[in-house]
Amino acid sequence: MIKIIRIVLLFYFVTNVSTKRVDYTNFEVLRIAANAKNPELKNIMANYRSITLRESPEDITELAIPPDELIVTKKKLKKAGINYTLQTTNLQKSIDAEMAAVSANVFQFNRYNTYDKIEEYLNSLDGCGSIACSQTITIGETDEKRPIYMVKIWKNGMQLSNRSTILVDGGIHAREWISPAVVLNFINFLKTNTAAMNLVDEFQWFVIPVLNPDGYVYTHTTDRLWRKNRKQSQVNSNCFGTDLNRNFDYKWNPLQSASSDPCSFVYRGPTPFSEKESIALRDAMLQQGQTYTSYISFHSYGQYYLYPWLHSDQLTADWIDLDDCAKAATAAIFGYKRKRYEAGAGGSLLYQASGTSADYAKAIANIKYAYTIELRDKGRKGFVLSYRQIIPTWEENRDGIIALVDCLVQKNNLIK
Ligand SMILES: [Zn+2]
Repeated sequence: MIKIIRIVLLFYFVTNVSTKRVDYTNFEVLRIAANAKNPELKNIMANYRSITLRESPEDITELAIPPDELIVTKKKLKKAGINYTLQTTNLQKSIDAEMAAVSANVFQFNRYNTYDKIEEYLNSLDGCGSIACSQTITIGETDEKRPIYMVKIWKNGMQLSNRSTILVDGGIHAREWISPAVVLNFINFLKTNTAAMNLVDEFQWFVIPVLNPDGYVYTHTTDRLWRKNRKQSQVNSNCFGTDLNRNFDYKWNPLQSASSDPCSFVYRGPTPFSEKESIALRDAMLQQGQTYTSYISFHSYGQYYLYPWLHSDQLTADWIDLDDCAKAATAAIFGYKRKRYEAGAGGSLLYQASGTSADYAKAIANIKYAYTIELRDKGRKGFVLSYRQIIPTWEENRDGIIALVDCLVQKNNLIK
C-alpha cells in the first residue's frame, strides 16, 4: 500500500513539475532606446507581463515581451516616439539550444553544469594541485536544504592562515549562468595553472561559486529567467523569492532602487538579511577571521567593472584607488582580445541599487576594494549566453583579475 502511495505521489510530483516549466515560445526580446524611467516605458513595465532583462546607462532597456502583448507594446512605444530593435524573435528557441548543451552527466569547465554536477566537483576538490591547495566548506543552507559552499584556496607549501584574502562570489542572481561558470574555471586555474602563481603568492582566496543554489536549480527545472532565491513570501503566498543583492543591511531602505513588493524581481525582502543566502555571505565577510583586501562579485550582463557606491551617484572618499585598479583590469581585458568592459562607480555609471553585497562589503565589512563585475555580453544573447562563450569570457576575466591583483599589490605595498 505504501509503495502504491509512493508511486502515486511520485507520479504527481513528476507531472506537476513537468507541467510547470515556464514557456518563452514566441517571446520577443526588444532593445528599447529609452531609459527605464521613461513614463511610457515605466507604464509598460509595470502593467504588462514583460520581463525586464537589463537597464543600461546608454538609455537602453531590454525587455522580453510575451507574444500576446507584442502588438500593444509596440503600439505604445511607437506612440511615445521610442525606437526599438528586435534582439531575439523566439526566446524559447535560444533557451532550448542552451539547455540541450547543459552537461548533466559529467562536470565540464566549458559547459554550463547542473547544480548536482557542480556539487560533485566541489566535494571532490579537497587537496593540493600543483599551485595551490583547497578545502571546500559549507557556509549555510538554503530553504530547500541545499548547502552553500565556499572553497578556501591557499598556496601549495603554505598553511591556511590569517593573511590577506580575496573573497569572490558567483551566482547571486540565478539566471546569470555565466557567473558560476567563470568562477568554477577560476578555482581550477588557481589550483593548477602556473600563471596563477602570483595570485596565490600574494593572497588566499575564498570563493563561493553559487551563492543562490535554489534559484540556480530553478532556472534549470522551471524558469530560465528566474533571478531571486526561492523562499515563499509570507505576505503574498503566490510570490516567491527575494533579490539577494537588495537584501544587505546597508542603505536597505531607499525604495526607488529596490522593491517592497514580494512579486517584484528586485524585491528587497521583508527585512535586511531575511534570507539564508545573504546571511551566509555576510558571515563569510565578517566571521571567517580574515582580513579581506578585496571582494569580487560576478554577475551578468553588460560588461562592466563597478565599484561603490551602488546605492547612490556619490563617490567614496577613496574611489580613485578603486578606479585605478578597475581600469587596470578592464585594460587587461581589452588587451586580451579586444572586449570592452567599462569601469566606474555603479550608481553613477549604471543604475542605483540599494542593499547590495558590494556596498555592504565596502561600508560595513570594511573591504576597501569591493567590485561587482558584469560579464558578457552587451545584450545580443543576454542571460542566455551560448556555452561557447564560457571559455572566452573566463579567459578575458582571468587576465582582468591578474591585472587587478597586480594593482592591489602595488597599492598595498605588499611584499611576497
Ligand atoms: Zn546580477
